[in-house]
Amino acid sequence: MDLLLLFFLPLASCLLPLAAYHTRAVHRMGQGGIPKFLQKPGDMMQTRPFLLRIGVVACAVVLTLCGAFVTRTRTSRSIPAASDAPPPRVIVLDAGHGGIDGGCSSAAGDVEKDINLAILLDLRELLRASGYTVVVTRDTDRSIHDEGVEGIANQKGSDMDNRLAIFNSAEGALCVSIHQNQFTDPQYSGAQMFYSDTNRESAVLAEALQQQFVAFLQPDNTRQTKLCGKELFLCYYSKNPTVMCECGFLSNPDEAARLVTPEYQRQVAFTIYAALVQYTAQGH
Ligand SMILES: [Zn+2]
Repeated sequence: MDLLLLFFLPLASCLLPLAAYHTRAVHRMGQGGIPKFLQKPGDMMQTRPFLLRIGVVACAVVLTLCGAFVTRTRTSRSIPAASDAPPPRVIVLDAGHGGIDGGCSSAAGDVEKDINLAILLDLRELLRASGYTVVVTRDTDRSIHDEGVEGIANQKGSDMDNRLAIFNSAEGALCVSIHQNQFTDPQYSGAQMFYSDTNRESAVLAEALQQQFVAFLQPDNTRQTKLCGKELFLCYYSKNPTVMCECGFLSNPDEAARLVTPEYQRQVAFTIYAALVQYTAQGH
């Protein structure tokens, strides 16, 4: 639109005086008269450079106005200065387990770590597209323990320490650790959020997530968010609002069958995304 204006307005401003001149000249010449504004008989041919000068001046004026219009429009559309805008909220996503630690598994043999990662990748894409800064603990199937650490227990400890360091790497970041649940009785299903009271915002974020699971995916889910202690290392020691999101039970065959499909994984990702957007939009 701006470019069209820049092109057509100066063109029109040039052509209109010339068209007017042409019409008037033909009309006057047909009458054998002299243009009145020249006030000088026999000066007919001098009207052309005069009107051309008018056209050039009109062009300059219109170009100036167009330039001012475009500049003003672009300025009004520009992103506010950094000092005016709130800092972008950082979201830390953790795909639970990874590498030799598969987490829990379904009766069909599906492993938790893979479902966690698939949901994380979908969720990261949604959040990034919405302008959030997203940090992840892992985006491949691996443990993130320090190099050179020997033994499974030590590697697990190093892995958890490094995840916690990532959770605390950005002040005020919202942290979501993605997991799947398991229980001895296969009848139980449904998402449940776990949090610690070491950060007061965590309970609010957990509630936002729990409500979105009910609203989007599981209308019959009556589970309550659950306060946890030191046994949930990341939730307890994170300095930022942190929720452990148990998306569903792999011990429930129906829910496990849904959780392994890319479609349902995207729906879970969108549910978590919606909760995070709602939470940040409310000014937390
Ligand atoms: Zn887990």
